Amino acid sequence: MIKETNISINQDRLWDSLMTMAKIGPGIAGGNNRQTVTVEDGEARKLLQKWSEEAGMSMTVDELGSMFLKREGTSKDALPVVIGSHLDTQPTGGKYDGVLGVLAGLEIIRTLNDLNIQTKHPIMIVNWTNEEGSRFPPAMMASAGYAGIYDVETLLSAKDAEGNVFGDELEKIGWKGSEPIGKQKIHSYFELHIEQGPILETEKIDIGVVTHGQGLKWLEVELSGVEQHTGTTPMHVRKDTSLAMSEIILAVNNIANKNLPNALGTVGHIEVFPNSRNVIAGKSIFTIDFRSPDINKLDYMDDELRFIAKDICKKYDVKLEINQIGGFDPVSFDKECLNHIRNSAKKFGYSFKDIISGAGHDACWINTVAPSAMIMCPCVDGLSHNEAEEIKPEWAASSTNVLLHAAIAAAN
Ligand SMILES: [Zn+2]
Repeated sequence: MIKETNISINQDRLWDSLMTMAKIGPGIAGGNNRQTVTVEDGEARKLLQKWSEEAGMSMTVDELGSMFLKREGTSKDALPVVIGSHLDTQPTGGKYDGVLGVLAGLEIIRTLNDLNIQTKHPIMIVNWTNEEGSRFPPAMMASAGYAGIYDVETLLSAKDAEGNVFGDELEKIGWKGSEPIGKQKIHSYFELHIEQGPILETEKIDIGVVTHGQGLKWLEVELSGVEQHTGTTPMHVRKDTSLAMSEIILAVNNIANKNLPNALGTVGHIEVFPNSRNVIAGKSIFTIDFRSPDINKLDYMDDELRFIAKDICKKYDVKLEINQIGGFDPVSFDKECLNHIRNSAKKFGYSFKDIISGAGHDACWINTVAPSAMIMCPCVDGLSHNEAEEIKPEWAASSTNVLLHAAIAAAN
């Protein structure tokens, strides 16, 4: 009899699948451009469907196009243990962000099949539609829909920069399913993802046990002053919004530094109007991105910024408006799922440590409706959302081994 405690996945087969998938929607610099609901996304889905059917799995597709691929368990009514992530990429994305989490699931099913191992609960792989959100907002669209954060009609009517409607594009590539959102219930959810940061590689740690997801607040700031001639307006009478903006940008940085560890503050998008060399900027609009795994700190940073910005704008005599345009609360992943991950890493003698996910992931939404946890593997130089994103085959294999044993533990 095969001892389930000794089994491990096939590294070469996993790597081969990753490389085969990467051929669909190649980028211009060795990575991938396989944006959501494009022809390339459709092809990637077809390949996953083919591989899953060859592995004896059944498929359903929901109204947002998410694929649910199921390997039956021995207990008729048991809910599935789900392994999920996403096949879509950024326009200049890598070969592993999201893809590893889905194809690791497939490799696990193939391994269980090879060894003829049955689990009590079914094991299901999910490819969530539009995790990246780069073409159609919001990011993590389908998992948010699944968790009931947005209603389906709102999501289906999302538009890209050219005015294309998400639901129409999904239909065009043939992947608008009929299954109502949320019909597939989940026993527990595991997501393996590349770290997308430098901590694991730098510290030579094999496995990241993701205990929390960063909370996030996106603010949009609009400053209104007066457009005036730069050559004729004395310094002391100006209402210069670019000056006030500069001080607020520094304040964002200071506030984040005051709330370490794990707090982050960034101004990544700025616009000044009329954006002309000899006109004082009468209007400035910019975004602020605050993150922390601690809800109190997140709220504190928001409050502090509003307080300081008010003072700065008074000093420069410009009008201030701040609106929250996005955000989600910090996530605490499920303790039992996390223990399955730690126990699996121990079984193999892999080094592991608790880490916090700085990026949003489908697991963050699924955690609101089912016990969830995430595993991370290192990635070279912490580089992600970049065509040069790279991991080592051994890293893919060790993290998939941990996922395999965590899934088996949850499924029995
Ligand atoms: Zn991802």
